[in-house]
Amino acid sequence: MVDKKETGLDAMAGDGGYQEAYLGDALRFKMKRDGKRFWAGDNISEYLDEDGYDKERLIDEATEAFELVLDRLLIDRENDPNSHGTARRLAKMYFNEIMAGRYDPAPDATAFPNDSQDRYEGMLVVRSELRSMCSHHHQPVSGVAYIGIIAAQKLIGLSKYTRIAQWCARRGTLQEELANDIAREIMKATDAKDVGVYVQAVHGCCENRGIMAHSSLTQTTVLKGAFKDDTSTKKEFFDNIKLQQDFAPR
Ligand SMILES: [Zn+2]
Repeated sequence: MVDKKETGLDAMAGDGGYQEAYLGDALRFKMKRDGKRFWAGDNISEYLDEDGYDKERLIDEATEAFELVLDRLLIDRENDPNSHGTARRLAKMYFNEIMAGRYDPAPDATAFPNDSQDRYEGMLVVRSELRSMCSHHHQPVSGVAYIGIIAAQKLIGLSKYTRIAQWCARRGTLQEELANDIAREIMKATDAKDVGVYVQAVHGCCENRGIMAHSSLTQTTVLKGAFKDDTSTKKEFFDNIKLQQDFAPR
């Protein structure tokens, strides 16, 4: 049994004198007490243990809850072989895949110094495939982010840009928020002030329901530092995106 002093069920013991039956309830209490925001797009990994025991327990609790949802939808999960394990599949999918970026800590982005005489001073543009989910309808969002950066004193490995972008995306988001989140986390990981993020995505909530618009495409741009203030930097960024799109059209 892991020590749950910090993150677990006895989070309330000192406050209310009783334990919550569900870890999810105890954690929600703790976050409210701390004034910690826990919206669909927020990362709450600091409240979970590093060994994954909490996550396993939360998956068990969410399985129970999804079972109830299926019952309320009048789906015979006892006799329908396809719906038999669906509640657990949904719970695991949320925690380990489509919302993993809420529960997992930031990817480890080891930085390398970029401060020698022949330091790289140019623009770097990385194209990252994204899978996300809209927080309004929990419908899939799929697309691509172009992350532009003018390197400061340190560089991170090329794959880290995509890992960070995917970590931001694997939550319930709005595309506007997602572009902001990616820009903020890239700035944090690299110390760079000059960052541009362009996201282009199709939304399940426009394609599968509502307006049923199969060719809808949404674009969002967040520009920081020189990307925002310097016309030629901005142009270079969008020229680079165009070159990437010509090479790998989506
Ligand atoms: Zn939606």
